[in-house]
Amino acid sequence: MVGIFSPSLSTDWLVPGRNLFLTIHVLGVACFIYIVAQRLVPLLRAESDPRFDHPLTRLRNVLKFWLGQWKHPRYKFAGTLHILIFTGFILLATRAFTVLIVGVSPNFVMPGLSGRTGPIYDIITDYAATVVFLCMVVAIVRRLVFKPARYAVPAKYGKSHTADAVFLLGLIAVLMLADSLFAASNAAGHALQGESVEALAVLSLPWMLKMAIDSMPLAMLWGINVGAYLLHAIAFYFLLCYRPFGIQFHVETSLFSVYFAKLERGTLKPVRWGVPDERLDQVKSFGVKKFEDFTWKHMLDFYSCADCGRCADNCPANAAGRPLAPRFLTIKTRDYAFKHYPVLGRPKEGEPLIGSIYSEDEIWSCTTCGACEEECPLLVEYIDKIVDLRRGMIDDGNVPQSLQKPLKALESRGNPYGKMEKKKADWAKAAEFQQTCSVKILERTNGSDKGADALYFVDSITSYDDRMQSIARSTSRILTHIGENFGILGAAEKDSGHEVRRFGEEMLFMALRDHNTEAIKESGVERIVTADPHAYNALKHDYKDVPPVEHISQVIAREVKAGNIQFDAVQNKSNVYTYHDPCYLGRHNQVYDDPRNVLDAIPGLKRVEMKRSRDRSFCCGGGGLMLFYEPKEEQRMGVLRVRMAAEAGANVIVTACPFCMVNIEDAIKVAGLEGKMSAIDLTELVDQCIARESIPEKQETVMVGG
Ligand code: SF4
Ligand code: SF4
Repeated sequence: MVGIFSPSLSTDWLVPGRNLFLTIHVLGVACFIYIVAQRLVPLLRAESDPRFDHPLTRLRNVLKFWLGQWKHPRYKFAGTLHILIFTGFILLATRAFTVLIVGVSPNFVMPGLSGRTGPIYDIITDYAATVVFLCMVVAIVRRLVFKPARYAVPAKYGKSHTADAVFLLGLIAVLMLADSLFAASNAAGHALQGESVEALAVLSLPWMLKMAIDSMPLAMLWGINVGAYLLHAIAFYFLLCYRPFGIQFHVETSLFSVYFAKLERGTLKPVRWGVPDERLDQVKSFGVKKFEDFTWKHMLDFYSCADCGRCADNCPANAAGRPLAPRFLTIKTRDYAFKHYPVLGRPKEGEPLIGSIYSEDEIWSCTTCGACEEECPLLVEYIDKIVDLRRGMIDDGNVPQSLQKPLKALESRGNPYGKMEKKKADWAKAAEFQQTCSVKILERTNGSDKGADALYFVDSITSYDDRMQSIARSTSRILTHIGENFGILGAAEKDSGHEVRRFGEEMLFMALRDHNTEAIKESGVERIVTADPHAYNALKHDYKDVPPVEHISQVIAREVKAGNIQFDAVQNKSNVYTYHDPCYLGRHNQVYDDPRNVLDAIPGLKRVEMKRSRDRSFCCGGGGLMLFYEPKEEQRMGVLRVRMAAEAGANVIVTACPFCMVNIEDAIKVAGLEGKMSAIDLTELVDQCIARESIPEKQETVMVGG
């Protein structure tokens, strides 16, 4: 690409090539810097977000998720296409800059590419340009002819994005074509002048173009060479400066989004970073009400979304026809940011988001299941943003009617049903149950004479719901069977507050958390067990200074492995079981194998997997106080889930969460599958199948107080 045959030595429109191209470069770079600086304006006005810790973990994330494109193969065809394009871009970056500089400095060689490495790099990049060009053609055909459903834009979210996507894909194809034509005309020109030329990669785009122009006279080749250079430079800078106006901005921002991505699953951002709980009452406004209330990282997310639609494709709220699709939450906010922080003109601050770009129902529709975040290849976050928007609505007194009663009950009674505290342990007092097991109610120990080693944290739904009390009894019998010295808090236990917090009621959550933390500490226990993944997630991530917590499935799996739990054969061998991963056990806490290992240890139990399982599990619809609030939807999430189980050939759905149980049992009825399909909690199944003769020495459990 060097020598006398160089665009820098041309004269175009009476202007020396070197001057013309230098002007294009300076203008292009200046425009890009100006546009990006304007895009940074809202981020500088945003709420703080401390994402500068753990640099090594963050770098590992960049290597895995950005450079390694880790999540892309989850969608095989589109993922492969993206990996090819991304790899091509990375390889071609040096070549693109070399080509640009050659326009002003004809003998420029990129450091490290002189000598033998230069020709090798040229061969590799000839192929890279070819592959990227072909990928663009395939992507355009896919967009225009095959039209994958996840790219569709329903009318309520605006107009189709296809034209913009095709335009950008076409522009990249033109860039590859110009790059290849420049290389081809260079090689052909040098050869015609009898100079030694580097070989072009056989069957690559530059090689084919060279074959096509080889016989042309030198003047024509020279014209093609300068024209290809000009086209390349214009396409390059146009793309560079156009990208910050739409989805292609992710090319620049995604690396930073991935680097600054949230590191801990299952956690929620505090109301305000840097403001401790005890000073929260001094915060004037909670949550996100206007765009500027988002943190800078959340704004960066809006810029980084590639509009691939994977989040919405996996969102159960979207599948059920609720007015929420995470992809459009981002796109709408990005459009808002572009409109209110224009590249030319003054920013317009302060417009409320609810009622302008978001509807209330849209924000209440989320079950905080995490499927969107699990799927997003760029690690865009949703739950924290949605909870922040809810905090803003709650702060304005904007609480859905159906939730006002349970919230009041949580405040006054510590549970959403408004039941008496003294009835909390009634499930443990049933005469039939007491013949099989007795449960301690832990009294205050004041740090001495602890009543038990482990606390079974039952939580509201399992304590008060007649059907779910069976989970509490099975859990207690299992703990007794393995010889655990455990007890419950009884009336002293309030709701864990997990759903309350995700609903946006931070102050109420804090009151519940502080009460429970004190009661747990006073009980003197060393560990906590729960059969409720929501309580598990709260105790593990939302509470501080409490003993370590395990979900009962983890305890059972360990005891099965150690030989302390053995099973009789499953009662009905013709049953086909499938395991439904609860979101707060699976996706948020990565407990996928323990429940499956337990099921597989039961002799004669036939188990099949649903198409959507493990980290792609489909939410039953129970999270985020959804048991008390049902947004408008076309069909129930639980019904969709039950149908998935039927499609997998199962007739028994095993789950490990009382919220899932409520929704799935209800959905079985709604789907008309009563009698054909049933649901059971893992603890209930284990309790049924446990080989009682293998009982280790039975512990002495005494009912104290109550
Ligand atoms: S958390 Fe779940 S329900 Fe909420 S937006 Fe994401 S996928 Fe949809
Ligand atoms: S948020 Fe992530 S998954 Fe959703 S459309 Fe954007 S890039 Fe794709």
